[in-house]
Amino acid sequence: MGLRLSGRRVLVVGGGSVAARRVPRLLSTGAQVHIISPRLTTTLSDLARRGDLSWSERTFRPTDVDGAWLVLAATDDHDANEQIARECEKQRTFCSRADDAEDSTAWAAATTSWDGLQIAVLASGDPLRAKDVRQQLSHQLQDGDLGARRRRAKQAPVGVALVGAGPGDADLITLRGLRLLQRAEVVISDRLVPLELLDVLDDDVELIDAAKLPYGRHTTQEAINTLLVQRASAGKFVVRLKGGDGFVFGRGAEEIDACVDAGIPVHVVPGISSSIAGPAAAGIPVTERGVVHDFTVVSGHVPPLDPTSRVNWEALAASNGTLILLMAVKNRAEIAAALLAGGKDAQTPVRIVENATTVHQLVRDTTLGGLAECEVRSPAVIVIGEVAARSRSVQS
Ligand code: SAH
Repeated sequence: MGLRLSGRRVLVVGGGSVAARRVPRLLSTGAQVHIISPRLTTTLSDLARRGDLSWSERTFRPTDVDGAWLVLAATDDHDANEQIARECEKQRTFCSRADDAEDSTAWAAATTSWDGLQIAVLASGDPLRAKDVRQQLSHQLQDGDLGARRRRAKQAPVGVALVGAGPGDADLITLRGLRLLQRAEVVISDRLVPLELLDVLDDDVELIDAAKLPYGRHTTQEAINTLLVQRASAGKFVVRLKGGDGFVFGRGAEEIDACVDAGIPVHVVPGISSSIAGPAAAGIPVTERGVVHDFTVVSGHVPPLDPTSRVNWEALAASNGTLILLMAVKNRAEIAAALLAGGKDAQTPVRIVENATTVHQLVRDTTLGGLAECEVRSPAVIVIGEVAARSRSVQS
């Protein structure tokens, strides 16, 4: 049985770790949570301060049960929990006891949810077993074995979803991105999208590799925009899958404009961008307290002296923040020269991360003065600045 708790009073007695684990889910159902406890954990007291729940700073009194639909007895005192349960019994209010499932009239289930489906596992008072089964079900749901089947058609998403696929390793896509990908009828993918991700697609999904689109009079981007609009207008749910985040040098804005102009609903699912994940995978914090308090992500696809360049290299040379260069492999010599000309120290540490987060990840260390001569293979993130020399040794 599921309970509709929205707007209903739920009493939680106890403000420790049990309450801290249970309360967020109660709040997410819209329940009016009231806590009785002399003390609260930091998280709970933050919620109380924000007004997300109410709190009485004292121990339990029988009248507290008045008006509650459901009570959680979550104190660490067995006798107190028993007293609460007795009072609930008298008032015919369901009560879940943290310390004694046998003596409860309600049990908290181990739950998992995915794509509008909720699964609750009860294991006759054996919470470890319930959690274990929940874990297994949760994996099966996410892998699509269970969740993909027998969906209600009316819940199918419509329009176009611009989904960031993450920096390289397939499991760095977001949960929402993966869920939408599993429901796609058409997928338009890019060069830097992890190919393993496409394994989740059923055979009948139309898969279009944008990097291989033939184009004649139009640019590839126009061809992609046209495809997005055509397929979505034909009633298909289209996922536009992009490396990293679709709004970081991803031309996501142009695709959204094309869809919006055609009256097609667009969802945006942010992705983990290689601009931050690349450095992270090589142990580089892009900011570090007391060392660097800013970072700038720059596209290097246009050389500094090119008239179409929109980057103020002089300002970047003067800044002591971290510089993160994308698409800069080809123009690295000109870029280094522009930064040196702007007064940046030739000894400034540089760390280059190729194929970040993938099994082919390769890290190279040099300096700004050595960047032009340093071998680099695409795709690479080039990190310039103090943090490059302060990288931590991390496992991939
Ligand atoms: N939208 C993407 C960036 C697209 S621009 C994102 O947010 O990550 C393409 C550039 O991203 C590449 O030239 C390279 O500089 C960088 N890049 C993408 N994936 C990378 C990876 N796995 N390792 C290193 N650099 C990567």
